[in-house]
Amino acid sequence: MSYQKVKGTQDLFEQLALKYRYVEQVMTSMIKKFGYREIITPIFENTDVFVRGVGDDTDIVKKEMYTFKDKSDRSITLRPEGTAAVVRSFLENKMYASSNLTKLFYFGPMFRYERPQAGRFRQFNQFGIEAFGDSSPLLDADVINSAYQIIKRLGINNITLKINTIGDFSSREKYALALKKYFQPEISNFCSDCQSRLERNPLRILDCKVDQDQPLVKNAPKIADYLTIEAKEYFNKVLETLDSLKIRYEITPTLVRGLDYYTDTVFEFVINSQDETNNLTLCGGGKYSDLIKSFNGPDLPGIGYAFGIERLIYVLDTQNLLPSLDLNADVVIIGLDDKAKTASLQLANLLRTNGYTCELDYKNTNMKPQFKVAENKKARFIIIIGEEEQQNNSYTIKNTFTKAQISIPQSGIIKYLEENLL
Ligand code: AMP
Repeated sequence: MSYQKVKGTQDLFEQLALKYRYVEQVMTSMIKKFGYREIITPIFENTDVFVRGVGDDTDIVKKEMYTFKDKSDRSITLRPEGTAAVVRSFLENKMYASSNLTKLFYFGPMFRYERPQAGRFRQFNQFGIEAFGDSSPLLDADVINSAYQIIKRLGINNITLKINTIGDFSSREKYALALKKYFQPEISNFCSDCQSRLERNPLRILDCKVDQDQPLVKNAPKIADYLTIEAKEYFNKVLETLDSLKIRYEITPTLVRGLDYYTDTVFEFVINSQDETNNLTLCGGGKYSDLIKSFNGPDLPGIGYAFGIERLIYVLDTQNLLPSLDLNADVVIIGLDDKAKTASLQLANLLRTNGYTCELDYKNTNMKPQFKVAENKKARFIIIIGEEEQQNNSYTIKNTFTKAQISIPQSGIIKYLEENLL
């Protein structure tokens, strides 16, 4: 029997693993500059956390969760997204008690039982942030700015910020009623999901992947006509702040986002290019006023977003934006007899603990296979230890770029590398 990975999962190794860590490093170092601190929650939670946090009417909860009973008959779910678990932890650890504004980021795997296709996996990775406790258009703009700065730092220029407001609760209620009335007569022409959305959350009809191109969706009433004065003012202030930060945006009235908990500002960063990455959403998020309260917590607002890492790497690859990432060795050591092999390992240890990447062949004492290792590892320097070197307490060191080869005393090796390995 041969073993295979589970459908919709992937192994990250060699270049792909390097790309993953590169993206993680760029994102996390930038977000720390914005004052966010890392949170690492468990990969699985009690199922209720996601049913409550994501919404039982969403595709995620209805169709996509990996839910199972543990041996004590508890219902457990592998996390399908980050926000609900972070809210659970924020409340359970009473983080609100020590600060008026809590800024958290996470990076890690999520699980959704979706149909695997290009860029869609059943285990994928997200980077996301959540800011809890404050409601301010300035905070909204700064959250959006942090995603924008990450995108810029990664070198992506052809990006469009799509933004909308779905208003506060009273705006949303009025708008939902208007949509219900509007879609009702024609609802039988929509997909079965939209038919059930009509009663429970008609805003999500606007977001439906199946029906999004229907003229009826395109011509549906617009939220802008149902906003309360406060919601309008709030949104205008967000836009003004983005203007002041010189971040361009497109107001997109049909943008409502898939998850139930959003209120007011919602946004997405979408690629806008000539190649196959055109129209891909890199990052999506928004404000949620009610989520923390719905977990029986204090009445505190939150705002956040998530990036899909696989998609980000795909875009960076397609647009040639990844720096050269390699696992090359600084030095490969060649030992020509058994004693030299032990000396090689000691020298490797010295070099590694001084900060150099160093490799060696553990078994062979012949030149040929050891030179092969140096070639595979694209070593910058090859150090040779043979009988003569051991007698003279010296090393032969070869620069693989210039091909120059010299003999240096053992005590001078670190200094030599310091001066020559740029
Ligand atoms: P969401 O949590 O649905 O708003 O998704 C945020 C981002 O996560 C999306 O823009 C995608 O890039 C990524 N994402 C969501 N689902 C998947 C999946 N099944 N496979 C890969 N990436 C995904």
